[in-house]
Amino acid sequence: MSQVTVEAVETVGTRTAALELRTPEGFAADPGQFVLVRATVDGVEETGYYTLSSPDTDGTMEITVEYVPEGTLAPWLAERSAGETIEVEGPFGDVRYTGEGSVVVLAEGPGIGPAVGIAERATRAGHDAAVVFWGEDPPHHGRLDALEADGASVHVVGSLTEAADTLAETDGTVYAFGFESFVRDARTVAEGVGVADEDLRAESFGAR
Ligand SMILES: Cc1cc2nc3c(=O)[nH]c(=O)nc-3n(C[C@H](O)[C@H](O)[C@H](O)COP(=O)(O)OP(=O)(O)OC[C@H]3O[C@@H](n4cnc5c(N)ncnc54)[C@H](O)[C@@H]3O)c2cc1C
Repeated sequence: MSQVTVEAVETVGTRTAALELRTPEGFAADPGQFVLVRATVDGVEETGYYTLSSPDTDGTMEITVEYVPEGTLAPWLAERSAGETIEVEGPFGDVRYTGEGSVVVLAEGPGIGPAVGIAERATRAGHDAAVVFWGEDPPHHGRLDALEADGASVHVVGSLTEAADTLAETDGTVYAFGFESFVRDARTVAEGVGVADEDLRAESFGAR
């Protein structure tokens, strides 16, 4: 468990904030992995998992939080300010990208965080990267524009079936990040176009 300093909080989309955190001594993780955040909100201890949205944890690392007004921990996190500290444990999770090979990342909602982190790590290493966002108006549009300028492809889709060609063409790893039903659909579509089980890495953010 570490007390981690918040370096910056930025609104990066509708009800979505990115928190840049100072990486604690001895902590290292890859995009796709997640941390446990623990906080006392209105006198009650709350915990939640948040996935890294930075390409690495060198010096600082980032999480991207999507919140609903009736939520507890997520809106509290979005209200933090630079200089405050939060309690973080981890990293957790086997789904991670270490910079090897091309990637296609399927994402919904806050899943866009690990999607940009992984795509940035891939393009930086000279690999092909594609981000497929299911929904409208994805958060992190500035980083998505920069990824496109660096040669990555970005697709905003209303149905994951629109990603079939991108999935069928890749010789790399397919990642999926989002809530439970999205991850289930992503698996179905990827398997339907012949993505092998060992090339598909999915992390569910739980039911909602
Ligand atoms: C492995 C893992 C990784 C995760 N990574 C991330 C991440 O990177 N970013 C992130 O934002 N979340 C992530 N989550 C989800 C996160 O841990 C919380 O569940 C989420 O932030 C809601 O917390 P809350 O306490 O504010 O809301 P709660 O008090 O738990 O929820 C209140 C109500 O609002 C609904 N709700 C909450 N959030 C949403 C939402 N975004 N959209 C629609 N309905 C919602 C809940 O279903 C519930 O009905 C992850 C979860 C897991 C298991």
